[in-house]
Amino acid sequence: MESALTARDRVGVQDFVLLENYTSEAAFIENLRKRFKENLIYTYIGSVLVSVNPYRDLEIYTKNHMERYRGVNFYEVSPHIYAVADNSYRSLRTERKDQCILISGESGAGKTEASKKILQYYAVTCPASEQVQTVKDRLLQSNPVLEAFGNAKTLRNDNSSRFGKYMDIQFDFKGAPVGGHIINYLLEKSRVVHQNHGERNFHIFYQLIEGGEEDLLRRLGLERNPQQYQYLVKGNCPKVSSINDRSDWKVVRKALSVIGFNEDEVEELLNIIASVLHLGNVQYGGEEGNACITSDTQIKYLARLLGVNGAVLTEALTHKKIIAKGEELMSPLNLEQASSARDALSKAVYGRTFTWLVNKINASLAYKKTSNMCLTLCLVVFLVVCCSFEQFCINYCNEKLQQLFIELTLKSEQEEYEAEGITWEPVQYFNNKIICDLVEEKFKGIISILDEECLRPGDASDLTFLEKLEDTVGGHAHFVTHKLADAKTRKVMSREEFRLLHYAGEVNYNVNGFLDKNNDLLFRNLKEVMCMSENKILTQCFDREELSDKKRPDTAATQFKASLAKLMEILMSKEPSYVRCIKPNDSKQAVRFDEVLIRHQVKYLGLMENLRVRRAGFAYRRRYEVFLQRYKSLCPDTWPNWQGKLSDGVSTLVKHLGYKPEEYKLGRSKIFIRFPKTLFATEDALETR
Ligand code: ADP
Repeated sequence: MESALTARDRVGVQDFVLLENYTSEAAFIENLRKRFKENLIYTYIGSVLVSVNPYRDLEIYTKNHMERYRGVNFYEVSPHIYAVADNSYRSLRTERKDQCILISGESGAGKTEASKKILQYYAVTCPASEQVQTVKDRLLQSNPVLEAFGNAKTLRNDNSSRFGKYMDIQFDFKGAPVGGHIINYLLEKSRVVHQNHGERNFHIFYQLIEGGEEDLLRRLGLERNPQQYQYLVKGNCPKVSSINDRSDWKVVRKALSVIGFNEDEVEELLNIIASVLHLGNVQYGGEEGNACITSDTQIKYLARLLGVNGAVLTEALTHKKIIAKGEELMSPLNLEQASSARDALSKAVYGRTFTWLVNKINASLAYKKTSNMCLTLCLVVFLVVCCSFEQFCINYCNEKLQQLFIELTLKSEQEEYEAEGITWEPVQYFNNKIICDLVEEKFKGIISILDEECLRPGDASDLTFLEKLEDTVGGHAHFVTHKLADAKTRKVMSREEFRLLHYAGEVNYNVNGFLDKNNDLLFRNLKEVMCMSENKILTQCFDREELSDKKRPDTAATQFKASLAKLMEILMSKEPSYVRCIKPNDSKQAVRFDEVLIRHQVKYLGLMENLRVRRAGFAYRRRYEVFLQRYKSLCPDTWPNWQGKLSDGVSTLVKHLGYKPEEYKLGRSKIFIRFPKTLFATEDALETR
């Protein structure tokens, strides 16, 4: 144990379980504040690492630091992301049990940085060979590529991941990383066609326009000015001071080659990116409500870049194919329908290309032989306090993860007590199954009701969906709408919203767009055009089988529910470690500790609940040899060396120190101490000896 424990007045405790008043949120926050002020951004809750984003580079990630954490007992050095990385790695090697590290926190809290630090730690400290070097390079290089296509500037974070991902790293029996696999879910596709004020589209568009070589841009028909493109002007934010699109472009181009993309593939990929921009500039006019395309400049570029027939594309962008009495008819779209068909195409093309990209990266990371050890890094964007379909899905994901977290924490506590032969004392906790059920239950959960409404022909709309919700789950204790709310709540809700009482707090969701987004429909004739494309990436993204398949594809929410169920299954089969990231302020400033914002996150991350579960029985536990080694000098019978059984030595030592029977328990290999003050008294004795 390091001296931070004794200097606790100044720097706080390095493990929240040692807080005297562990149920007090104020004491929790005060401890975070003390440590943050001293640049101590990491604190434990037992084995959970809490991290506060310092918003500046701290000198704590050097090779020396990596060495310091290598092979060291978790609690003997100060809390660090490297300790988590090392601990998981060692359990993987010694216990041969698959590990996963779950990193959660809101946008800008430091999840991506944490995952990079973990990867760097493995890149430096794991055994190496030439083949291993290639995998390490590719693992590290996949990051800038994924960020270029999947991250964007938002109001909260200049480099925000707009998709969920988890990443497996496979190790061989010698402990060297030999392969990897990335799974992505729920890319925020709507960002391709619309951005809120002050936000941007995905980085890659700006990187290409700012950094692309002259002849490349000429070939793609692009101008070096993002303001020329409808899909890039909505947020009115082409430049971001913390981002250098031009140099990022170079990094991404190089990374694509390291990962193993050949020149043809890069060309096809960029053709698609440029096409999305051209699509956005397709403008409609027309008489009598029938949309027609006003200029064919974009269509010409699109035809060339995507390898499709311009006339067929034009027709597909202005008409919808309907089948009546066995005959195909082309029915003209009005202006609004045509614009949304165009946007649906852009979203589908970008979304599927992103999935293709991830698959391509996976192919380059794939380990040819079967590996028997696997470590998963899982990044989770957490509770989004507003308001639409994507956030509903993300918050549902968080709800499931919280459920898993509490279950596993309780289970591991219980198992430890059992293994040590100590009586388990049941812990009261909030079981959020009730909320998970509300969302996902068959036939009567929100997703089922949404799907039903999506399938219903006729007058189904977002508002009829809301009404159906009121009829079906209106009585649920965690569900409210404007109509059902009391007078006070009604004031802060619109008639188009429903509110869920998540474990972490209340969130209002606006139903606007729920049906469309869940249907995620792309008109059949647009699909047909894409299937005929000569672009090799698109031919992989748009499969002809989709056209012949009469069955309706699963809705977006149902697909998400299924991938979440798969994720839970994977996580259940592994030994988890947790990193909880906190953002200290909204202005990305170093030093500033915004208490209100932090208190929210402590709540949303469920940290107090976590601490309560962890502290329910004993605050502190240590293996006998570690405990004896540290304190043996405090008792003449154990000093300088105890010769007998370790448990007898510890027993002799604590009796000499005056521990009362209710203050501690001796297990098979560990001592359990109930209150922090007992331990502090012993620590103080060591200091003043
Ligand atoms: P998230 O993935 O949670 O959205 P990021 O990991 O992208 O957030 O962090 C946002 C920004 O905060 C980073 O670009 C970086 O500038 C800063 N940051 C995060 N973690 C650290 C850290 N450990 N040290 C220094 N800066 C950090």
